[in-house]
Amino acid sequence: MLRKLLSKVIKIKKTRAKKGQANIDNDGNVYDNRFVKFYHLNKKRLNKERRGSYKSKSKGGICVRCNRKAVKDIVFCKYHQARQKEYNAKARAKTKKGKKK
Ligand SMILES: [Zn+2]
Repeated sequence: MLRKLLSKVIKIKKTRAKKGQANIDNDGNVYDNRFVKFYHLNKKRLNKERRGSYKSKSKGGICVRCNRKAVKDIVFCKYHQARQKEYNAKARAKTKKGKKK
């Protein structure tokens, strides 16, 4: 038990020394920064919360990106509808060039 724990600590220390990063979780996974680490450790809860608010907002006719009133039959307000159009145009331009993502 103690040996197992000790070898784990040693493993983490080695990874840290090698990568020069301290953003490691208890399983020894290395993250780019503390924000990415936080996201991966909390993503189940975060995604649940986001999905919940998306549902209740879209049902209530409120923009899912902010708290303004949404345009009829879509989930965005006027401002975010425009932003989304921009984003979609950019994304489509990317795929046309063959940069799939
Ligand atoms: Zn909005």
